[in-house]
Amino acid sequence: MQANATVKDYIRTIPDFPKPGIQFRDVTTLFGNPRGFRMAVDQLLHPYAGQRIDAVVGLEARGFILGGAIAHQLTVGFVPVRKKGKLPGKTLQQDYTLEYGAEVVEIHEDALQAGQKVLLVDDLLATGGTAEAGIKLIERLGAEVIGCAFIIDLLDLGGRARLEAMGMDVHALCA
Ligand code: 5GP
Repeated sequence: MQANATVKDYIRTIPDFPKPGIQFRDVTTLFGNPRGFRMAVDQLLHPYAGQRIDAVVGLEARGFILGGAIAHQLTVGFVPVRKKGKLPGKTLQQDYTLEYGAEVVEIHEDALQAGQKVLLVDDLLATGGTAEAGIKLIERLGAEVIGCAFIIDLLDLGGRARLEAMGMDVHALCA
């Protein structure tokens, strides 16, 4: 990789995964590269410098890797939003629809306090359905989403417009 490589240069596209016709953006090559991973974390945090952030919420599963690193950098706690049935304590649940069928995500009901300011993190924004479900869970706990940060924004799929229509600040590093 060249010395002036950008975050996007560390991401590879795998054709026909997980099914034919899908061009899967694989961020494991970014996470696996010390320079790329550092750059992604720094660039995701850059717009929020000086802003109060009390907690980072990451969406399963790649949002955990990224969100954990970002929370550590900020010296704040990390809160996972997980697929149904994975969290051991009492949870709030939120439904959302996918292209085929429905999905449920959960958050521990004591994971955030009312009034806390939260940064939501995931690797990729597509339709915005997953992020919207995460935002709803955070807001149902009385906390406030001050920003939604993604490495990749697949602009054609409308996620950014969907989240901005909810009043969200959306930050992404590449398309
Ligand atoms: P959305 O709910 O915005 O339609 O889809 C976003 C979710 O699907 C994210 O949690 C993301 O991790 C996952 N996702 C969908 N397509 C891809 C992809 O091509 N690459 C990666 N890394 N994640 C994807």
